[in-house]
Amino acid sequence: MYGLTLYILFPGRSSFSTQYPNVQFAWSYKTNYLNAICSIFHQEGSIAEVVSGFEYEKARSLGIPGHKIIFNGPHKSDGELQRAFSENAVVNIDSFQELYRAENVAKSMGKTATIGIRLNMDTGTYPRWYKFGFDLERNQAFEAVARISKSKWLSLSGLHAHIGTFMLDPKAYAIQVRKMIEFMTRIESLLDCTIDTLDIGGGFPSKNRLKGSYMPPEIAVPKVEEFADTICSTLLENLPSGRRPKLYLETGRHLIDEAGYLITSLIAEKQLPYNRTAYFLDSGITNLYTGNWYDFSIRPGETTDGIPEITTLYGPLCMNIDVVAESISLPPMSVGSPLVIWPVGAYNVTQWMQFITYRPAVVLITEEGTMELIRRREKLSDITTPEEIPEHLLPNEHEGSSHA
Ligand SMILES: *Cc1c(COP(=O)(O)O)cnc(C)c1O
Repeated sequence: MYGLTLYILFPGRSSFSTQYPNVQFAWSYKTNYLNAICSIFHQEGSIAEVVSGFEYEKARSLGIPGHKIIFNGPHKSDGELQRAFSENAVVNIDSFQELYRAENVAKSMGKTATIGIRLNMDTGTYPRWYKFGFDLERNQAFEAVARISKSKWLSLSGLHAHIGTFMLDPKAYAIQVRKMIEFMTRIESLLDCTIDTLDIGGGFPSKNRLKGSYMPPEIAVPKVEEFADTICSTLLENLPSGRRPKLYLETGRHLIDEAGYLITSLIAEKQLPYNRTAYFLDSGITNLYTGNWYDFSIRPGETTDGIPEITTLYGPLCMNIDVVAESISLPPMSVGSPLVIWPVGAYNVTQWMQFITYRPAVVLITEEGTMELIRRREKLSDITTPEEIPEHLLPNEHEGSSHA
């Protein structure tokens, strides 16, 4: 079972809005797109940030109008672009091919589409994400804007960049913001455009522990206020006075990771060689995708007596790599004991997979401490409904009756 606590969501929101007058958060759907979770963020004032046609539909189905959706990502079909343009979504173009397609789509609609472009740039963070957007230093971004400014069907109003994830150095954002403002000034003076929005993406870390990290997260992870101070002061120092474009923040992980707990129980115990105890849990790596990068905190769900010892934790899957923790210090526990794995609120309930076993239920724990089911445990029909059995493979009734 997953538990998601409805604790103070939006840690750090006021750190931005008290320092810069024009801030809008956009909830990154792929971080956790359970309907209840998106609805909490929308209720708190976030618009939606989506990276696919599927996520766009999800936001619309939750009642979010197109103009409150930021549509990012390298893959937007013509049909999806058309819908986004007709509903006035904020569309950030990722490549020249997408730019040409967007122009054709707008032309076919007889409408000038307002767009943004995504930039990639050197912010001193490596590896650099060349995959997304137009390269700023190699002038691709300028060429893209030049192309847009010549088009009757496209109008540029925003610049976007999402420079990385789990960023530990606020200075990278200072470089990003400075470069975006320099670029804005350059294109506005040389080409026909006015930039209304600067979207700096997401990337703030959570208090998760990166594998191989020596320092605990409390020391390694800067407070969100440090990011806010750096970003807002760079904006105020570099923007012309009186010019305050809307700042979009697409913060995902930072806002939800620590709200999520995976509650699992011990199903079996085994002795490994070298006096090592292994416990089997009822939930494994298919529900803990971010375990590829993090060493989670794993604690007994009940207070237990006994001397902690080094233990191995296996998941329930019939797969040797299903190891939840290779080596962890835990007090002795018995079958049925609960264990709590944290923080797992970001990127797990979107990247989990149905493999071998059903995915667990997700409950929301409210401020009053009550539990609300927001995704029930899966059942067979959830998995088999999209399937078809060709006629010739259907059980043969005749054969069935001959056995009767
Ligand atoms: C994934 C993503 C985000 C959210 O990133 P976090 O690191 O979780 O804050 C924001 N913007 C874009 C374009 C993304 O792809």
